[in-house]
Amino acid sequence: MSFEYTLLKKSGQSEARAGLLQTPHGIIETPAFMPVGTQATVKTLSRDELLAMNAQIILSNTYHLYLRPGADLVADMGGLHRFMNWPRPILTDSGGFQVFSLGPLRKIDEEGVTFRSHIDGSTHRFTPESVMRVEEQLGADIIMAFDECAPYPSDYTYTRAAMERTHRWAARCYTAHRESGLWEKQALFGIVQGGFYRELREESLRFLTQGELDFPGYSLGGLSVGEPKDIFYATLEYIAPQLPVGKPRYLMGVGSPEDLLEGVVRGIDMFDCVLPTRIARNGACMVPEGRLNLRNATLARDDRPVMEGCQCYTCRTYSRAYLRHLIRTEEILGLRLASIHNVHFLLDLMRQARQAILEERFEEFRLGFLENFRIIPHEVRQHNREKREASLRGKK
Ligand SMILES: [Zn+2]
Repeated sequence: MSFEYTLLKKSGQSEARAGLLQTPHGIIETPAFMPVGTQATVKTLSRDELLAMNAQIILSNTYHLYLRPGADLVADMGGLHRFMNWPRPILTDSGGFQVFSLGPLRKIDEEGVTFRSHIDGSTHRFTPESVMRVEEQLGADIIMAFDECAPYPSDYTYTRAAMERTHRWAARCYTAHRESGLWEKQALFGIVQGGFYRELREESLRFLTQGELDFPGYSLGGLSVGEPKDIFYATLEYIAPQLPVGKPRYLMGVGSPEDLLEGVVRGIDMFDCVLPTRIARNGACMVPEGRLNLRNATLARDDRPVMEGCQCYTCRTYSRAYLRHLIRTEEILGLRLASIHNVHFLLDLMRQARQAILEERFEEFRLGFLENFRIIPHEVRQHNREKREASLRGKK
């Protein structure tokens, strides 16, 4: 079996769990954060930098790669692993979130979605079957079913309709991928939708886990799409522990430090988000207290690293004063160094969380971290606002 989840340890105090996920390109230690390489590159970082910080798996976006350079081209170049020379596991999303975010540029029907490219306005069509074909050509270890993510806020009727379509599409993706002959090589994950209605979430979970469909892993979609934090955590609280125990659980699009820990404590194994590289490009670094703004004048003569004790290349090599200078002068190296630190920070946070679970002290670790981490950075609010706006555009 090339794909298998092994539960190593479940916390006695919470739903937190540590496991191993075997894939054709290696084993992933969970819980794990997956850096996002939208265009088959984690922005500004080389493959060797990602390997040096021990990124176990990266995510790439089907919608973007389908448009450029095209799935045929990637397949001709030997698949995504070979094309970008990445030796470890890769996950591709289904493009659903991006396509639905196109708003007036897309039209949904029962068969699929017709949309206009955000690059040149050309017309394209995604169906569950065509998306499976694209993801098979890209060749990631883990692929996602084509789903419709209801934006926040959405009323009950709309959310139910989107969920039911997601279910019909999940069944079609399942059949198409089964028939491709690649079932053993690429693990297809089902996506639980249902917005913020408990009845719908639980119905979605039952449909995807208890019927004829038997996916090797499950994702929670449509969370962290701009809803208040308490609603996000409450939804996660009742739905995550109901996901099958013997399969990996992936919370899509979540990547702020506090949300990673709030996901882990509720039983999530995998996360992805563009947040660490996005805020790096604004000159912000993740630190245990929240955020360090590298533009800050107080850093002008600060000889310390971004974060004391951090083992990343940036912190081992350069001072805050030097980074501030690079960011202020808009030097590319500054963006790269901030990205290295931020991605390393989240990978390391997950490594520490995993170790704490294995040693039965995760609750102590989580509370200790959150007590220190009080600031909700401006960039996170901005990021959440952008996600909400993108999701609402998708509704019109
Ligand atoms: Zn660092």
